[in-house]
Amino acid sequence: MKTIAAELAYFLRGRARQNLKVLMLYCAFLVAMVLVYAVLFRSLMWNLEGREFSLIAGIYWAITVMTTLGFGDITFHSDLGYIFAAVVTVSGVIFLLIILPFGLISLFLAPWIEHRLRNRLVTELPRETTGHVVIFGVDAVIRAFISKLQARGIPFVLVTSDHDEALRLADEGLRVICGSPTTASVLSAIRVSAARYVVANLSDPENAAICLAVRSQCQTPIAVFVDEPEHSGMMHQAGANKIIALHKILGRYLAIRSTTCGALAHVLDSFGDLLIAEIPVHGTPFSGKTLENAAIRQRTGLAVIGIWERGCFTVPTRDTQLNDKALLVLAGSRVQLENLEQLIGEHAEDDLVFILGHGRIGCAAARFLERKPVPFILVDRAENPLCSEHIPIYGDATIRHVLEDAGIDQARGLIVTTNDDSTNIFLTLASRQLLPHIRLVARANCEETVEQLYRAGADFVVSNASVGAGILLNILEAKASAFLTEGVSVFRRPLPESLVGQTIVDSRLRPRTGCSIVALEPIDGDILVSPPPDSRLENGITLILIGTPAQEELFDTAISGH
Ligand code: ADP
Ligand code: ZN
Repeated sequence: MKTIAAELAYFLRGRARQNLKVLMLYCAFLVAMVLVYAVLFRSLMWNLEGREFSLIAGIYWAITVMTTLGFGDITFHSDLGYIFAAVVTVSGVIFLLIILPFGLISLFLAPWIEHRLRNRLVTELPRETTGHVVIFGVDAVIRAFISKLQARGIPFVLVTSDHDEALRLADEGLRVICGSPTTASVLSAIRVSAARYVVANLSDPENAAICLAVRSQCQTPIAVFVDEPEHSGMMHQAGANKIIALHKILGRYLAIRSTTCGALAHVLDSFGDLLIAEIPVHGTPFSGKTLENAAIRQRTGLAVIGIWERGCFTVPTRDTQLNDKALLVLAGSRVQLENLEQLIGEHAEDDLVFILGHGRIGCAAARFLERKPVPFILVDRAENPLCSEHIPIYGDATIRHVLEDAGIDQARGLIVTTNDDSTNIFLTLASRQLLPHIRLVARANCEETVEQLYRAGADFVVSNASVGAGILLNILEAKASAFLTEGVSVFRRPLPESLVGQTIVDSRLRPRTGCSIVALEPIDGDILVSPPPDSRLENGITLILIGTPAQEELFDTAISGH
C-alpha cells in the first residue's frame, strides 16, 4: 500500500506533475474532438440521409470509428458520409492510437522507469556498517580485487560519480553509491570513518582530493594508485598511507623476468636479509640439468624454492629438470645472489632486451633495465608524451620488417607490453615464431588473456589486474608477504605451538597444507634458508613459507588454528 502511494506521489511532483497537466489538456482535446464529430455526424445523417440519431449515438459512432473498432451497425450510405467517416478514422488513428500512447510513454512511462532505476541505487549505507572497504574507481584491477574480497567475505562499497556506471554495477549485484567522491555528504553516506580501508583508484589529482577529503573526516587508512611515481610524496602529504605506483611495479616485474643478467637485478621482494629473486634458466649453466646436478645450492648457497613454467608454479624436487623455458624462484642473501651472478658469468651489458610498447609500463621496464644497466631497444608506433628520455624506434610492431629492421634477431629478451591484448597475443605469436629461444615476457591487460598469452608462446605473463589486486589485498590484510605473482606468495608466520619441537618432516606441513618452508628465522642468529627436512622447529622461531592463498589460509586454519 505504502509503495503504491509512493509511486502515485511521484506523479504529483516536479516534472511528472507538469506532464500530468499536459496529459489532461490532451484528453480534454480528445473529448472535444469526439463531441464535435458526434455533432457533425448527427447533422450529416439528418441532412444527407434523413436519418435521425441521438447525441449519445453520435458519441458512440465517433468513438467506435476513431478507435477503428467500427462495428458497422451505424454506417453512412452517401459519398460525403463515407468521406466524413474516413476523416474520423484517420484522425482517430493519429490522435488516439499514435499520439496518445506515444505521449504516455515519453511523458510518463519512460521518466517513471528512469526514476525507478535511479531510486534502485542506495543513497547511503546502513548506520551499523563497519569494517568495509571503500573503493573509488572501478577498472580491471579493482574487479580482480573485489572478487578476492567476495571470496573472503570482506564487505565493500564502490563509489562512482557516473550514474550510468553506478547502475551497471548495481545490476551486477554490487553495492554502489553514486556521488562525487569528495563531498562530505557522500563520505558520510559511505560511512568512511567506520571503514577498514579506502582505496583511491582514479586519476592522480582526483585521488589527492579524495585523500584530503577523507582526512578531513577521519583517520581511516588510504591506499592510493598513482600514475606518476613522482606524485607519491604529494599523496603522502594529502594523507595516503600506502601508495602503489602500479605501472612502475609492472614494468619492474616484466623487466626482471626478461633478463638473466645480474642476479641482484632479479630481486622481487625481501624479508629482512632474505631476498626472493626470480631468474630465467635460459642462458644459464643450469639449463638442461636436474636440480641436483645443477648444484645451485652448493655453488651459491641459494635455495630454489619454486619453479615457474608457462604460468605453473611447482616446488621442485632433486630430479626436477631445469629447462630453458623455466624461471627459478630463489631465496637467499645478497652475497649468495652475487655468487650466482659470478657463476652465470654474463654481464648485464651482454644482454639485449626489446621492449614492444613504450607506454607507462614499457617506459618503467626501460628505466629499470637502464639502471642495471641492461641494453634495451624500445619499439612504439607513437611518441610517449610523458617520456622525453627514451627514443624508441617508431613503427608498428605487428609489421614484421619493423622488428627485423630494428635488429630483433640480436635480442635475448623480449617484453611485449602494448595496451591492447590482441596486439600482445599477436606479437607473442609472431616473435616466438621468429625467435624460438628468446626469453619472452608478456603483459596481460585483461585476466582472460593470461592463458592465451602462454599458449601463444610467452615464457612468463604479468597480469596487470592480478598484480594490482594482489598488492591491494596484501595491504588490506597487512600481511608480511612477498607477492610473487597471481597465485603464489611468500609469507611469514610465527611457529604455531602445535609444531614446537618437531622436525620439518614430522610436522608434515607440505602434505597437510601444501605450503613449503622457505626459511627459518630464529629470534637471534642467522636466517636458515631452505632448511633440511630434519631441522628441528624450536620454540620462538618464525617460519617463512611459500604457497598459494588457499594454502596460506589452510595453514592458518589447520595449523595455527586461527
Ligand atoms: P600503459 O601506460 O598501460 O603502458 P599505454 O596505452 O600508455 O599503456 O601504452 C601502450 C603503448 O603501446 C602505446 O604507447 C602505444 O603506442 C603502443 N602500441 C600499441 N600498439 C602498438 C603496435 N602495434 N606497435 C607498436 N606500439 C604499439
Ligand atoms: Zn620512456
